[in-house]
Amino acid sequence: MSATAALSGTLRLPGRIHFGFGARHQLGELIAPFGSRVLAVVDPFLLTTPAVRETLDALRDSGVVLQVVSDVQPELPVDTLDAAGQAAGRFAPDAVLAIGGGSALDAAKAIALLAAHGGPLDRYYGENAVPGPVVPIIALPTTAGTGSEATPVAVVSDPERELKVGISSPYLIPAAALVDPELTIGAPPSVTAHSGIDALVHAVESYTARPIEAEWSGMLPVFTGRNALASPLALDAVERLGRWLPVAVADGADREAREQVALASLLAGMAFGPTGTHLSHALQYPVGALTKTPHGLGTGLLLPYVLEAVSGDAGTRERLARVAGALGAEPSAEAAIHALVALNRRIGLPASLAEIGVEPEQLPRIAELGMRSTRLVGIAPVAADSGLLLEILRRAHAGSLSDALPA
Ligand code: NAD
Repeated sequence: MSATAALSGTLRLPGRIHFGFGARHQLGELIAPFGSRVLAVVDPFLLTTPAVRETLDALRDSGVVLQVVSDVQPELPVDTLDAAGQAAGRFAPDAVLAIGGGSALDAAKAIALLAAHGGPLDRYYGENAVPGPVVPIIALPTTAGTGSEATPVAVVSDPERELKVGISSPYLIPAAALVDPELTIGAPPSVTAHSGIDALVHAVESYTARPIEAEWSGMLPVFTGRNALASPLALDAVERLGRWLPVAVADGADREAREQVALASLLAGMAFGPTGTHLSHALQYPVGALTKTPHGLGTGLLLPYVLEAVSGDAGTRERLARVAGALGAEPSAEAAIHALVALNRRIGLPASLAEIGVEPEQLPRIAELGMRSTRLVGIAPVAADSGLLLEILRRAHAGSLSDALPA
């Protein structure tokens, strides 16, 4: 019997999720059962903020033996993680606390893995290569976001490889997620825009990912394509982000906007954790490596072009019509794409790959590298080859969507 039939569903989630303003104050209560030795992996900027300092002080005051790691390097080079993992192993933490954006959360996942099973980290690249439970992770995201607090993935960079590389395993799903929108209030407009649009891409790609064949009787792949439990979460996230992301970017102090975007980011992470994402992500990895632009800027820029390329498929058109409805537009695939383009414009995203410095002659190589993300390409809504990826890239480079789209 198929685990990916139309009404089958899989969610893999943290054992506890708390969402809301002030949720961070649940930390002491939540962490106590794990033990008293806690390794905190904290984004260096966040370590300077009163909310995070008070959170860590409260833990120390409660008798927790706390070790703080805050030299989280941009792009997460594996050698720095291997070293941090060795130190973590010597400290022998009962829990790993992760505070920061996707980078700090992913660093914490890698360190919790290394502390439990040893290095080097490249032993675990790919899917389902983690041999067993890692040190329990408690995640407090400060961007909204990557959804990493609810997902089975850590993305790192390895100088031996041209592209960033993923470690995907259900064992990497944090034991608990505390999502407190208060922690996102200080994020500058560009971080808000790039991480927020990434959440929207997670939601739309989760909702449109093709279910791959999988049987209940075997080990399920980490990412199985869309499913009946994840889809409602994804659509809800689209609706909230469409309405509130531009508000959060325009006015970072708007508490309602921060709350809505943080909730949507969590919902999108809960949705894409079991389903996976597809072509915008496959193409962003090489684009990001080439242009050194933020992950969300790339996925958000690419999404309309990806959707246009896959919208010939009848089932995908229907789903995109529902995405359009969630974005407050007429229910059609074209209206969904148009609404996403308009949203990108409102939050200040570049409209073309040319604007971020990609040269036309680089496009074939990007398409070739994109094809290497076989699991992402494999759950695209339509069968994708390098020709299709090149077509998407050409349009994205020129910033031109089909004439069939409303102006
Ligand atoms: P980030 O963690 O790289 O942070 C970006 C910048 O924002 C940093 O300078 C950080 O100091 C700052 N920052 C974070 N929170 C802040 C706050 N509240 N106030 C002020 N500044 C703040 O950015 P991100 O977009 O959250 O994460 C991107 C990373 O996440 C990429 O490496 C990407 O590959 C990864 N990612 C992981 C998953 C997953 O499921 N594991 C999903 C998507 C992306």
